[in-house]
Amino acid sequence: MGSFFVDLDSAFEQAGDADCLRLSDGQVHSYRDLQTYVNGVADVLLRHEVHPGDRVLVQVDKSAENLWLYLATLKIGAVYVPLNTAYTPAELDYFIEDAEPALYVGRENHSKIRTLTLLGDGSGSLMDEVVAGAEVPIEHRERDDLAAIVYTSGTTGRSKGAMLSHENLRSNALSLGEAWGWQANDVLLHALPIFHVHGLFIATHCALLSGTPMVWLPRFDAGEVQRHLQDCTVMMGVPTFYTRLLDDSSFPHQPLDKFRVFICGSAPLTPQVFAAWENRTGHRILERYGMSETIINTTNPLNGERVAGTVGYALPRLEVRIASSEGEVLPRGEVGGIEVRGPNVFSGYWRNPQKTAEEIRADGYFITGDLGVQDEDGRVSIVGRSKDLVISGGYNVYPKEVEKLLDSMPEIVESAVIGVPHADFGEAVVAVVVPKSDAVELNAVEATLQGQLARFKQPKAIINVPELPRNTMGKVQKNVLRELHSELFAD
Ligand code: AMP
Repeated sequence: MGSFFVDLDSAFEQAGDADCLRLSDGQVHSYRDLQTYVNGVADVLLRHEVHPGDRVLVQVDKSAENLWLYLATLKIGAVYVPLNTAYTPAELDYFIEDAEPALYVGRENHSKIRTLTLLGDGSGSLMDEVVAGAEVPIEHRERDDLAAIVYTSGTTGRSKGAMLSHENLRSNALSLGEAWGWQANDVLLHALPIFHVHGLFIATHCALLSGTPMVWLPRFDAGEVQRHLQDCTVMMGVPTFYTRLLDDSSFPHQPLDKFRVFICGSAPLTPQVFAAWENRTGHRILERYGMSETIINTTNPLNGERVAGTVGYALPRLEVRIASSEGEVLPRGEVGGIEVRGPNVFSGYWRNPQKTAEEIRADGYFITGDLGVQDEDGRVSIVGRSKDLVISGGYNVYPKEVEKLLDSMPEIVESAVIGVPHADFGEAVVAVVVPKSDAVELNAVEATLQGQLARFKQPKAIINVPELPRNTMGKVQKNVLRELHSELFAD
C-alpha cells in the first residue's frame, strides 16, 4: 500500500495500550486513544468535505490534538500543510492563496476560507465536532501521492512549498529508525514545534513507528526539559536547546546514565557546545543534517565516531555528492554544493515548476543550497549556505572557516560572518560577535587570526551584539544581519 498511514496504523495496532503521549500536566494518551482520536478527527474532516489530495492548512499551537489532526489528514489521503505559528495574518493570506486549502485550521476565523479552530472549548471547534465511536477507513494512496507540503523558511523571496510524498515520509522514517537504533524501551523527549519537519516528521515518526512514548512538551523550556530528562532516553533538539541547558548552572541535577542519545540538527552545532555537553553529561551529541525538502540527509553514526563540526554520512539509500555550480562532481576534499538524490528527496515545489527545474537536476540530484566538503570516507561537513558565501576581492570566503576560529577565542561566545557591500572588494568580510564580557576589538581578532587565516578571509570590521538574531528553529538569520549592516562601508 502506498499510504504511509498504513505503516503507522499497524504500529499503533501493535502498541495497543502502551503510552503514546505523556503530557506535561500528567495526562497520558495510549496508542489506542490515539487511534480513537485520529478516527474522530478524520471523520470531522470528511464531514467538512475534505477530499483526497485536498490541502489542510494548519496554524495552531502545539498540542496532542495537533498530532491527531496531522495523522487524520494522512489517513483520509489529504495533504497536511503546517505553518509556523509566528506567521502574521498578511503572511497567512499568501499561504491561503498559494496552497488553496479546502480547510484552514487556525487560531481564529478567516474571512476567505472555511476555518475551524482546533481545541474543544465549546465554541464550535474541530475537537467539539468529534463524535464518539467514529471509524474511518484508510484512504488508498499511491507511493508518490502527496502527503504534506512544507513551506521553506523563505529568508529570500517568498516561501516555497516543498511537496513531500507518502514514500518520502516512509523511507526517511525507516532509515532514521535504523540509523539511530530505535529501541522498544525508548522514550523521546519532544520539545520541538510541530510545524517544521524536525518536530513533525523526524522526531514523531521515530516514536510512532516503533510504538514508543513521547514526553510531549508544548515548547522548549529549560526547567521543564530538565524535569523530564530522567524519564527519557532520547532527545532531539536544535543547538539552542543545548546551549540553554548548558547556561543553566544547575544542569544536570543527576548523571544522565539512562539516556541513550542526544540528537541535534536544523542549525550548526559548534565544537565548543559539543565539548561542553560531553563534559557536563558524558554524552557526545549526535549531529545530523536535514531540510524541509529532504527531511534528513546525513547523520553522525550511532556506533562510531561522532565528530564535532561534521554532519556524518549519507543515510541508507541516499546518494550525496559535492558538485560545482554547473553540476560537475568535485573530488573528495573540495568544497562545493551539496547535492542529494534518494527516496526521501521531494518531487518539487508546489505550483512552481520554474524553481523546481532550477533546483533539481536532470539526473534527479537536488541542489540543497548548502556548501560542504566530503572527506575520503564520505563524511560530510557543511561550510555554509551558498547564498551566505562571501566573495571578497574575487576570492571565496566560507563563513564557517572564519566562525570556527572566532568561536574558539576565549573572549567570544559565538559569531556570524557575513559579507557586506564594499567599494573596493565587492564584499567585505564582517564578523558579528557575541562577546563573553567586554566588547571584542578588531585588533584582538586580527592578532588571533594572523598566521591562521589568509588576510582576505579576515574580518574588516567587528560588530559586538548581545545576541544573534535567530528564527524559531535556532538558525542564525544572516539575511537580517546583512541588511542591518549593508551601509557599513558606504561613503
Ligand atoms: P529547513 O528547511 O528550515 O529545515 O532548513 C534547512 C537548512 O538548515 C539546511 O539547508 C542547512 O542549511 C541547515 N541545517 C540543517 N541541519 C544542519 C546542521 N546539522 N548543520 C548546519 N546546518 C544545518
